[in-house]
Parts: sequence; structure tokens; C-alpha cells
Amino acid sequence: MKIRVLGAGFAGVRAALDLDRLLGRQGVDISIINKDPYHELTTEIYRPAAGRDVRVLAVPLEDIFAGTSVAVVQGTVTDIRLRERQVVLDRQRILKFDRLVVALGSEPEYFSIPGLRENSLTLKSLNSAENIRRHIDAMLSQAAALANPADRQPFATVIIAGAGLTGVELAGELADQRPVLARRHGLVPEEIRIITVEAAPDILPGFDDALIEAATDMLMRKGVSLILGTPLRAVEPGAVVLEDGTRIAARTIIWSGGVRANRLIEKCFTTRNRGRAVVNEYLQSVDDPTVYIIGDAALAINTRTGQPVAPTAQHAVQQGRLAARNIWAELKGRPLRAYRARTIGVLATVGHDVGLAHIGPIKLFGRFPVVVKDLNTWRYILSLGGTRLLLKVLWRNGRLRWARA
Ligand code: NAD
Repeated sequence: MKIRVLGAGFAGVRAALDLDRLLGRQGVDISIINKDPYHELTTEIYRPAAGRDVRVLAVPLEDIFAGTSVAVVQGTVTDIRLRERQVVLDRQRILKFDRLVVALGSEPEYFSIPGLRENSLTLKSLNSAENIRRHIDAMLSQAAALANPADRQPFATVIIAGAGLTGVELAGELADQRPVLARRHGLVPEEIRIITVEAAPDILPGFDDALIEAATDMLMRKGVSLILGTPLRAVEPGAVVLEDGTRIAARTIIWSGGVRANRLIEKCFTTRNRGRAVVNEYLQSVDDPTVYIIGDAALAINTRTGQPVAPTAQHAVQQGRLAARNIWAELKGRPLRAYRARTIGVLATVGHDVGLAHIGPIKLFGRFPVVVKDLNTWRYILSLGGTRLLLKVLWRNGRLRWARA
């Protein structure tokens, strides 16, 4: 019995650990396949993207799976052949499977906006965070070399298009880093302009009104300019064009306007809603019940609301747990369990010092959510490998820095 887990994000890592716990000592061959040799804490990457030093950004897979029966395979999944029961890595290597857990995550959705893909940066991985940091540094250094303030401005302007949680967390963090960046490049902090463009009338559409107001106020106090109710219409090299025809010159354009499932998913499975795989209540693919699809790549439905669950880490972890449990149940002839989505809440920061939390009926804005978010990261690492892993990560300082840079 060969069980392959594709992707070592929040969903895949949880699934592989639980498969090991349930089936590891029973002669089942479990492996996890990932393009990088580490598990990225993508909930943290907006901080280094803005230039902040962060304690733990990634955890080596060999540390997570040390002492388990899970084999770690490094490679990029380039095809899934359901009929042949094969996974293809890097277009050449073939792995057979009996059960498959697909946890290949998401990527930016560009909505066919002209020039957007070619002329923008996105924040989806550690490497992309490093690209943003380096790019901003390079542009500010060019700005500093120009004598005329009008010539400097486009180089010192950062546009963040899309003010969902990704855009807001990044804008807040970048605003706080402004004095550091300005000092490094010999600029005045106010010269570095951060402009957030949002299509909806408010930032964080769909959130609680009081939290939206507090986050809006905080971004403005930190010096972020907000252009609301104005979609981005096109992007050119060095400028964005808004729906109302306004053109803003900027050498750094970051797209945080939404995500879609990994493109490989729509090549291999029935999909809906931005390429997410249609799954049944047990998280099995509707195309093949021996394949479980979880995390951002899956269109898991919240049975209470009838709506797709949001592509977030907390749902990914829940789905990883359930997929492992259902594979165990299948192999033991036990009944499968249906997915019951639990949304514990939202925790996000607006810069170093303030954040928002909406957990059940509790709504908070201020310092406390930042502390809770940081504690949550440590709690998560503990959940992967207990104090042994936590100490190892702290020992190495967790700075798996841009492995491919
Ligand atoms: P999102 O889809 O949640 O937000 C995208 C934003 O971009 C929306 O506000 C949308 O109105 C805006 N937008 C879309 N098209 C636009 C256009 N043409 N011009 C301007 N604005 C446009 O995407 P996200 O923020 O990347 O989040 C993705 C998922 O990850 C969500 O489920 C989110 O909850 C989750 N997430 C969670 C956290 C956290 O819990 N702290 C942090 C980041 C992301």
C-alpha cells in the first residue's frame, strides 16, 4: 500500500503526520512530495517581504518527519495520471500510488487583467517574499541616486493592489518599515509612498464593520494612502491604470487581489470556483475516490452554510487531519467521516504593533492580537513535532533563508 501526499503546506504536512500516527507501523509506505525541502510558514511571509527579520519562516521537512515512517521526496509534481495511478515529478520521474492526498495549494489569480502578471510581484512563498524585499531595496537605491524629486517618486512608490488580509498585512508591515528603509537609502520616510488600491468600497470586504474601521484608521495613521472602490484595470511596466482612468507611476507593484488553486488541479480533476477541485463530503475527488484533495486546492464545502470554505491555514490543517483519518478508516473497513468545517476565527496584523482578531463573538483590535498571532505560530510548530522540534527550530534559529536565492 503506497500513500503519496503531494505538497508540504499546512494541509499536506498534517495529513502525512497523521497518516504516520495511524498507519506508520503497519507496513504502509507513506511519502510526502514537495518542491522544496522545507515547510513554509506562509502566514508569516509578509513580514520578511517588508524587510523585517523573522525568527521562524520555514521548518525543514527532515526535522518534521525525523523518527516517523514518512519518506520525504523532493520534486515538483508535473502530472497526475489517475488511470495509470501514477504521479509524475519534474516531467520524468514516475511514482505509483494506491491512495493519493493532493495538497498542492494555491497561486495568484490575475483575472486576465492586462499586463498584471508580467508587471507585478506577488506574495505566495518565501522566495516571492524575498523578491519583493530585494526589489523594493533596489528601487529605493535607484531613487536615492536621482537628484530631482519628481524623477525619484516612481522609484519610491509601492502600490499594493487588493486589500484583503494579504494586502492589509503587507501594507501595515511595510508602513512600519519605512523609517528603516529610508535611513538605509538616505531618503526621507515620507518620500516612500505606499498606496493600497481596493476594488470594493472598503478594505477587508466581508469583515466586521468595526474591525474594518479600526484597520482603515490604523493604515491611514501609519501613512498608507487608500484608494477604495476603484479596481485596477491594467498594469504597464512602471505604472498602474485604475478603472476611473487614473494612471499612477510606480516601480513596485504588488498584486494581492486574490488566489486560485494550483493550475495542475484543473488539468487533472473536475474543478469549479477558480480551479478548485470538486470533492465530496469525505474530501475525496469526485473523479476518483482513492484521491483525497485538501487545502486551498480543494472546493470543500461548509455543510452548515453551503458555502465553500476559505482557503486558509486553519481549514487546511483540519482537512489534512480528516483525509488521513478517512484513509485509515477505508483501510480498516470503518465508516468514513464527513467534513465539518470549523472556522475558529481570524487573526491578522496591521504592522508590528497592532492587529485584529475576530474569534467567535470576540472582536479585538490592538496589541493583543499580535501577541496571540505570534503565540499561535509557536503552538503550530509544537503541534508538528512537540518540544523536540520547537527546540531544534530555535537552535537553528529557523532562518532557512531563501534556500534558492
Ligand atoms: P482575498 O481574495 O481575500 O482578497 C483580495 C482583495 O483584492 C479583495 O479585497 C478584492 O476586492 C480585491 N481585488 C480583487 N480584484 C481587484 C482589482 N482588480 N483591483 C483592486 N482590488 C481588487 O485574497 P488574499 O487577501 O490574498 O487572501 C487569500 C486567502 O488567504 C483568504 O481566504 C484569506 O482569508 C487568507 N489569508 C488569511 C490571513 C490571516 O488569517 N491572517 C492572511 C492572509 C491571507
